[in-house]
Amino acid sequence: MWTALRSGAEQSSPWGSRGRVCALSLAVAAALLLLGFLIGWFTKPTDEVTATSFHEKVKKAFMAEMKAENIKQFLYNFTQRPHLAGTAENLRLAQQIQAQWKEFGLDSVELAHYDVLLSYPNETNPNYISIIDEHGTEIFNTSLFEPPPPGYETVTDVVPPYSAFSAPGVPEVKSNRLLKSRKLKVSCSQLGLIFRGSWKIRPHKLYSPGNFQLMRFCRTAAGHLEHGVWEHSWIMTSSKINTSLIPPEYTYRYEEARAVGLPKLPVHPIGYNDAEKLLRDMGGPAPPDSSWKGSLNVSYNIGPGFMSRYSTRKVKMHIHSSNKVTRIYNVIGTIRGATEPDRYVILGGHRDSWVFGGIDPQSGAAVVHEIVRSYGKLKKEGWRPRRTIIFASWDAEEFGLLGSTEWAEENTKLLQARGVAYINADSSVEGNYTLRIDCTPLMYSLVYSLTREIPSPDEGFKGKSLYESWHENNPSTEYKDVPRINKLGSGNDFEVFFQRLGIASGRARYSKNWRVEKYSSYPVYHSVYETYEIVERFYDPTFKNHLTVAQVRGGLVFELADSVVLPFDCRDYAEALRNYVQVIYNLSKNHQMGLTTYSVSFDSLFSAANNFTEAATDFHRRLQQVDINNPIAVRALNDQLMFLERAFIDPLGLPGRPFYRHIIFAPSSHNKYAGESFPGIYDAMFDIENKADQRKAWEEVKRQISIAAFTVQAAAGTLKDLA
Ligand SMILES: [Zn+2]
Repeated sequence: MWTALRSGAEQSSPWGSRGRVCALSLAVAAALLLLGFLIGWFTKPTDEVTATSFHEKVKKAFMAEMKAENIKQFLYNFTQRPHLAGTAENLRLAQQIQAQWKEFGLDSVELAHYDVLLSYPNETNPNYISIIDEHGTEIFNTSLFEPPPPGYETVTDVVPPYSAFSAPGVPEVKSNRLLKSRKLKVSCSQLGLIFRGSWKIRPHKLYSPGNFQLMRFCRTAAGHLEHGVWEHSWIMTSSKINTSLIPPEYTYRYEEARAVGLPKLPVHPIGYNDAEKLLRDMGGPAPPDSSWKGSLNVSYNIGPGFMSRYSTRKVKMHIHSSNKVTRIYNVIGTIRGATEPDRYVILGGHRDSWVFGGIDPQSGAAVVHEIVRSYGKLKKEGWRPRRTIIFASWDAEEFGLLGSTEWAEENTKLLQARGVAYINADSSVEGNYTLRIDCTPLMYSLVYSLTREIPSPDEGFKGKSLYESWHENNPSTEYKDVPRINKLGSGNDFEVFFQRLGIASGRARYSKNWRVEKYSSYPVYHSVYETYEIVERFYDPTFKNHLTVAQVRGGLVFELADSVVLPFDCRDYAEALRNYVQVIYNLSKNHQMGLTTYSVSFDSLFSAANNFTEAATDFHRRLQQVDINNPIAVRALNDQLMFLERAFIDPLGLPGRPFYRHIIFAPSSHNKYAGESFPGIYDAMFDIENKADQRKAWEEVKRQISIAAFTVQAAAGTLKDLA
């Protein structure tokens, strides 16, 4: 499946030396020579063909081993109880997964635990928001829990909706205000207006004391406001949704009082039926434009305070959550590589869920489970991958990517030296329209060739490949005539591997039609309504999309772990870089005055991208000519490929973001889920007209251009011939 390498066997038959026998008998010597020649001529190329076809044969067997029915069973098994991080149930699931991965045949399966700061509501003193009158009497209270979906009424340990790490408090506010993050261009089309991923900029930019915030209401649709709508449709819930706030970005255990990044304000998520009550009598001016409006039958007046008729009313929050150092558990399983055990390909996804996690994360965890089972089966039959495969079930992703980050920090030195690739496996479905891929440019060509080998599960594409349906349903807007691949942002467990350590990473899932379904993620996201049934009834009744996602994730791991030459194409990185340079340059032209006044030039960056392109083209040519029977030569080139992503890491990190160290990609500073290219330059130019000291601001742009040019040029250097 990978670009075939030129056979090296014709030139260097080790059998050739066998011909140098003593001159005892010319005839024998000649016969031996001829025999040696014949063996050399026929055996070697056959060996190689055998090696390639063996790889293909095992891959086929691996792909055929994975079954939709198994994924369905695993999903059912993983979603019968809540698995909140730090709870006994989630430890129990970790132990179950550990035992099953051992049964499946992995070489080792360990639990890796860490004591981290988590946050829980108070069981006896619930969180809610009320409207109070002038006497302090509560005349309206938001609901204390989500009405459970049918069949789940008796399940215990369902955590009520809360925002993890919210500051506790009971503030009373008169000047409540409707807030919207105008500059973010995040149209979640939910009433929530403030997107979960943009939390980071809130405290200093959007909030002032006295404002309460209403996060993540779900939008109304088609007039449904009753509870339990999930029976009829996947598109909404009237209740509240759990949501975690900013991931703490540290490993040293600060005392809580010194903790970094904990919100100072009380925060609470509510459902749209409660939101409607709070918004209905809002006073103040009408919203500036329609983008402030959702689908509720209210005015969307922006406050402050209620209408004059209700002007004595106030809003009071009751938040009693507390933070608690709690033990979390990752499950880490390994299959040792046969030839290069010191090269690691990692497949990881989280296990903890807010409640049942029907989609997030168990639709992903069930797929990982089936992938592990299928690899275990191959191993039991005597096969081993060329490189080591590590499988991970992460804990406490919902609280800020804690399990994956802790583990990667603990193993940083090994990962920096030996990490080939990381494939992320959270939710397998967020829709059922088309494939969605986010990955490093190094994997573009691998993803395209692999998806050509996988049958499409989409209706109307019978007999066609996944590539074809993906291409038609989700075409690239950046590059001509290929399916769309997104940049990696964050908001998931690949962050530490890609953004901090520079390990080539990718993720795959089934997604919705973003052109039509413009709401953020999916409507039951993180709520109690994310059950097995919503997947089985609405998202993927036959689990064919899950199976496809398993084939993509598992297939990527297979190729990365078992191909002789790593399936990375550095020429795609070159093309992406040239594109990103053009994009950032075009963006800069919006500030023509500044560019001219402060003599800002992008020439060095254009030049570095061209040099990188030349080095990549040259490298690829050498790769085609490598003697595949020379393990040292192959390993040397593979190492150049493996370390290429690492070459984009700046140990100093991006300005103000020391853990985001990739110079080409970072989570957008304005939406953590989205990826930004050349983030240092982008952030330096963001809103630059409004910066007080223009000279200083443009000097920073110049400095960032220089860092980017240096990094790209240095990365090109790592692709050059070794000596
Ligand atoms: Zn998740």
